[in-house]
Amino acid sequence: MRLTVVGCCGSGPGPASPASCYLVEHDGFRVLLDLGNGAFGTLQALADPATIDALYLSHLHADHCLDVAPFIVWHRYSGRSRGRPVPLYAPAGADRRLAAAYYGDTAPLEDVFDFTLLTGAPFDLGPFRVQTVRTAHPVECHAVRLTAGGRSLVYTGDTGASADVVGLARGADVLLAEAAHPDVPGLPPGLHLTGREAGEHAAAAGADRLLLTHVPAWVDAGAQLSDARAVFPSAELVAPGATYDV
Ligand SMILES: [Zn+2]
Ligand SMILES: [Zn+2]
Repeated sequence: MRLTVVGCCGSGPGPASPASCYLVEHDGFRVLLDLGNGAFGTLQALADPATIDALYLSHLHADHCLDVAPFIVWHRYSGRSRGRPVPLYAPAGADRRLAAAYYGDTAPLEDVFDFTLLTGAPFDLGPFRVQTVRTAHPVECHAVRLTAGGRSLVYTGDTGASADVVGLARGADVLLAEAAHPDVPGLPPGLHLTGREAGEHAAAAGADRLLLTHVPAWVDAGAQLSDARAVFPSAELVAPGATYDV
């Protein structure tokens, strides 16, 4: 399984990276985890959009889904799509949310996407076994575990501290965890993880490798990394364009 970081800037695009988007490949099958603002441009430098077999949206905050709008334009008008709907997995309301983002009304998108709502039930997606859990976040958000070829990748999406996310990540080969909150007093609960909390989640899950992501442009990424390493010494900070063998 291979993970490529398309965009990793937290809460919105930054000067050096689009917002959240990760390309996961195995056995010739390609799935995008989130498609945040700015990501569709960078994606085209890393992979032909026509080769994307499925989209998975963890939740419907702008920094995780808004570049579905240019994907729709590309699919309809570039003349380069495969000409059939792309499977899209997302929380309830995704069809209306994405239609509104694209066109300002509820114009149907069935020609572009084959929608499946995330319910918490596991499912198969190409070569991947997919498991999800709800995270601790103000809107419905699903962390995801992809398993294929005996390897597993867990992506937290956005979450505050969550025993369910730890459970999903149990024994994972790679935990791609958000670390958006700087370690300051008075943080709201149920929103984001600090670097230390990301490290604690990886340690509690017994994950083999911790990749930190979703650090906002206004937060010191080096501090997030050192906070995580205080708990999980091998933690790494992802970078746009970086590729990881899971
Ligand atoms: Zn986010
Ligand atoms: Zn969010």
